[in-house]
Amino acid sequence: MAGVPDEFQRLWTPHRMAYIQAGPQPLRDACPFCAAPKMSDEDALIVARGETAYVLLNLYPYNSGHLLVCPYRHISQYDEATPEEVAEIGALTQRGMQVLRKVSRCDGFNIGMNQGHVAGAGIDGHLHQHIVPRWTADANFFPIIAKTKALPQLLGDVRRVVADAWYD
Ligand SMILES: [Zn+2]
Repeated sequence: MAGVPDEFQRLWTPHRMAYIQAGPQPLRDACPFCAAPKMSDEDALIVARGETAYVLLNLYPYNSGHLLVCPYRHISQYDEATPEEVAEIGALTQRGMQVLRKVSRCDGFNIGMNQGHVAGAGIDGHLHQHIVPRWTADANFFPIIAKTKALPQLLGDVRRVVADAWYD
């Protein structure tokens, strides 16, 4: 599964056990954002596939519903993206906002790209745009499920809800 590791603690600290139980992290030399599109949507936590870019859940979410928009091509910097990729990353980002607003009733978003390791990119070899939903109150997307399920199951439930709403 793909995602962007970082130094921040998850908001769902009760589920940190799920990471420990999941075993070793993928090999560092394998690019998770190149590998993900070759897997099923369910296994890779993909919510939508476009022509030049796709959307998946971050395996290391800052918040429930944290999406990543990635070009299929392994490019590192935003200015390496073609006009078609720029347009589709933008369109997928807009659609991601609409879907998250609808399914999670979030009040705002943090959207952006970290360019290079020095700027905080967890995976600096493959461009990815973060879409992080924010709530006024520190409410969770799925508070009841979150208390009763392990993280991989929770992420699977979030993926299904977002993917189902994507083409509505
Ligand atoms: Zn890659």
